[in-house]
Amino acid sequence: IEQTFSIIKPNAMKKNAIGDIVSMFEANGLKIAAAKITVLTADKAGEFYAEHKARPFFGELVSFMTSGPVMLMCLQGEGAVLKNREIMGATDPKKANAGTIRSKFGDNVGENAVHGSDSVESAARELALFFEKHEIC
Ligand code: ATP
Ligand code: MG
Repeated sequence: IEQTFSIIKPNAMKKNAIGDIVSMFEANGLKIAAAKITVLTADKAGEFYAEHKARPFFGELVSFMTSGPVMLMCLQGEGAVLKNREIMGATDPKKANAGTIRSKFGDNVGENAVHGSDSVESAARELALFFEKHEIC
């Protein structure tokens, strides 16, 4: 069964939105197979976003992602990667369809409430960065 990696970002954590966001995953058939709340170190956030290292917003992105608690999750279900991207909505909350997580809880293109893996390969890399195998149930 397909797995994907999800992060509830610091701005959505500040809005007390864990319950609402998890409900949207569950209502759409995604199971929470692992979860932890933590504060990312700059090293870990930089490693996670390594593909964006050369982008002008990289410094801002790392400082936002380390600015407060995040919730890390493994979501499991049929077509989990794509399904999660649909539930999240477009990267820029202004462009995200109504009813999506980013439309409801995103503030701007950087503080866009959630992360979701963009492929099965990315999901495997990202899950391995944050979870031991036995932590995914
Ligand atoms: P994510 O990888 O977080 O799920 P995404 O795949 O929709 O988001 P990416 O292009 O991978 O978008 O960008 C990664 C993250 O970098 C975005 O979620 C956002 O937080 C941040 N980001 C992207 N573009 C910008 C930008 N122009 N300015 C500031 N931050 C940005
Ligand atoms: Mg991405």
